[in-house]
Amino acid sequence: MTLLKKRLPCLAVMAAVLLAFAACQGEKPGKSDKLTVVTTTTMLCDLAKQIGGDCTEVWGLMGSGVDPHQYRASAGDISKMQNADAVIYSGLHLEGKMGDVFASLEKSENSENTGKKVICAADGLEEKDIIYNDGVPDPHIWFDVHLWSLAAEEVAKGLTEADPENEVAYKNNLEEYKKQLAELDSYIRAKTEEIPQGQRVLITAHDAFGYFGRAYGYDVRGLQGISTATEAGTADVSRLADFIAENKIRAVFVESSLPVKNIQALMEAVKSRGFETSLGGSLYSDSTGDGETGTDTYIGAFKHNADVITEALKP
Ligand SMILES: [Zn+2]
Repeated sequence: MTLLKKRLPCLAVMAAVLLAFAACQGEKPGKSDKLTVVTTTTMLCDLAKQIGGDCTEVWGLMGSGVDPHQYRASAGDISKMQNADAVIYSGLHLEGKMGDVFASLEKSENSENTGKKVICAADGLEEKDIIYNDGVPDPHIWFDVHLWSLAAEEVAKGLTEADPENEVAYKNNLEEYKKQLAELDSYIRAKTEEIPQGQRVLITAHDAFGYFGRAYGYDVRGLQGISTATEAGTADVSRLADFIAENKIRAVFVESSLPVKNIQALMEAVKSRGFETSLGGSLYSDSTGDGETGTDTYIGAFKHNADVITEALKP
């Protein structure tokens, strides 16, 4: 049982070789003197690395551009999670097709505790923080930076419980990261100020931006619902096209983890109503981007979104 092994404080660990494997995807967690952590989404992979720092080795199951609503855990994923010291998932049914996997990691078949720490990031939120649509919780909590800092606290708490010897490191990393998150929040608010009030309307492929809208004052409308599991129908396209044409919304947006065809159909429908809306660009919704563009972190992806939205909607 990996959790019971004697773990050296992280600073004492010979890190050089292990760091080479600290990417968000790659080999399955093996023997390590560090806390081994498996995460589901790319946002969580980044969060775990920010909080875990040198004390952890983090593996992400889902890559950039992967849709977490539709993601099914492979046998390899299950084995990675079983071998890790800690597993972090987002919750509120974001990982809707991963079913009871997370609960089963904590208890063995004979209902004994496995000793593994399973952290649900959304557990850091209070009930009042959560947006419900027809009784269904919206899982896209990372789009309100304040809520994501609560998720960061939850992750820090979980890592500390799994690895108490490095409590101080996790606490310091959390404090540092919360400062960066506060700066990000200010950046988004400043960007929003560049857009006239009436144009603060965000139309995207699916309802991922409800928390963003509430936190930063945008009217948000998605072509699909809060999960991508249900297809957008012609009635949805028609209703949204009416709205865009009537309100002369300058741009609509695609999402990096979803096909572009639905948004193209929407733009065509708007055109047939005598108004032309442009394609504002691609937003990161349910995954971050890649390293080449600097969008492979939560902060990098969110800044990209704020820049793209502002460029498209400002006069
Ligand atoms: Zn989503």
